[in-house]
Amino acid sequence: ASESDIFIRRQPRGSALGTAATDVLAGGATSSWQIADPQPVWLDHGAGGHIWDVDGNEYVDLHGGYGAGIAGHAHPAIVAAVTEQVSRGTHFAQPTEDALWVARSLAQRYDLPLWRFANSGTEATMDAVHLMRAVTGRDMIIKVEGCYHGHHDSVQVSVSPDLDEAGPAHRPESVPSSTGIPTAITELTRIVGFNDLDAVRRILDENPGQVAGMIVEPVMMNAGIITPEPGYLAGLRDTLHSAGALLTFDEVKTGFTAGPGGATARFGVRPDIICLAKSLGGGLSTAAIGGTSDVMSAIADGIYEQVGTFNGNPLAMAAARANVYQVLDDSAYRHLADLAAHASAAITDVIAAHGLAWHVKSVGAKGCVIFSPTPVTDYREFLQLDDRWGQLHWLIQHNGGVFLPPWGKVEQWLLSVAHTHADVDRLVTNFERLAVIAE
Ligand code: PLP
Repeated sequence: ASESDIFIRRQPRGSALGTAATDVLAGGATSSWQIADPQPVWLDHGAGGHIWDVDGNEYVDLHGGYGAGIAGHAHPAIVAAVTEQVSRGTHFAQPTEDALWVARSLAQRYDLPLWRFANSGTEATMDAVHLMRAVTGRDMIIKVEGCYHGHHDSVQVSVSPDLDEAGPAHRPESVPSSTGIPTAITELTRIVGFNDLDAVRRILDENPGQVAGMIVEPVMMNAGIITPEPGYLAGLRDTLHSAGALLTFDEVKTGFTAGPGGATARFGVRPDIICLAKSLGGGLSTAAIGGTSDVMSAIADGIYEQVGTFNGNPLAMAAARANVYQVLDDSAYRHLADLAAHASAAITDVIAAHGLAWHVKSVGAKGCVIFSPTPVTDYREFLQLDDRWGQLHWLIQHNGGVFLPPWGKVEQWLLSVAHTHADVDRLVTNFERLAVIAE
């Protein structure tokens, strides 16, 4: 039987729910990126590093709810914090003390003094783009081809464009990434390649006094994993500043996973604005925007109204406080580093033993297999990668009890504080099955 057939046969109740769902949930899922091939996976519960589907199959969860799961499931500190808060009221739309403590931790971890909260990565990057415009009085922004920053209009541009519409590499076109986005907005977002500082200089030179700033994932994590070349991030900051423009790091994926202070601390370059979400909330939906005093004074002075009914929601803040103070401490990061080193080394050994021209890329708790022997430096090189193995790898891992994000070469695994070396061994054993087929 094919891996696809095995996948479906293991999940009769999941299949039935999937069929029933198409009557009431558009596309049979609650978000378009939950629709996997051959079918969405209907989950029942999670504990620590593991999850169980509605048919009782158990998996090592390396999907981590698209990178939100660094604390694992039902971590005792988070359960205790949320349980206490849930019986004391779940929503006030006024600040609670936990928000103060979370902001203090973020200020210390990310070296930016002032913070606000939101509810999703999309909201955080939308606020960041608005803030850059509000502070500079300019409309244009620069975005990197292949970076994903959520689903608002200004950043739904050139997320995964086809090469035949993307223009030349040194001068990429702005390609809308979704229907429903006005052309006038798309045109305000100018596109550059990752690691291409000259392209940023060119846009700033050609549009004097018009560029509000640039938003970038400091490590690209929606195209496998692509790391910044030495000097690139500092070069961006200096180049933008010399043109009176601002730099935003979208750390929605790298925040907390690349290290205690995300990519900002890891690479030692402080931007003007940082966006956090995913792994901030210990599994609850929350997000944060941090900035320099200069930038955040636009909020403090009421020049930009950063708002939201559920901003700083007490339940989310209780979970986030437990997460940043009790879960993500030094020993957690030592454990994550051990697991990551184990995964990288063991998979690298399998690749070598089977003579495959692949390699492992890992930053902090996140990692992936790149189906090429050489490092990838931008989106266009990423597009050239062999796409044959991603889907099969996902199915083999799934059928072998490891849950990964279903997007082949695009997504990464996320290790959590609750995972063990035995969990990593399961990933490696399944990977070896793929290696045998690919050899
Ligand atoms: N920014 C990055 C780098 C992301 O990867 C994502 C989501 O995957 C977002 C922003 C959007 O976050 P959300 O899905 O919470 O709106």
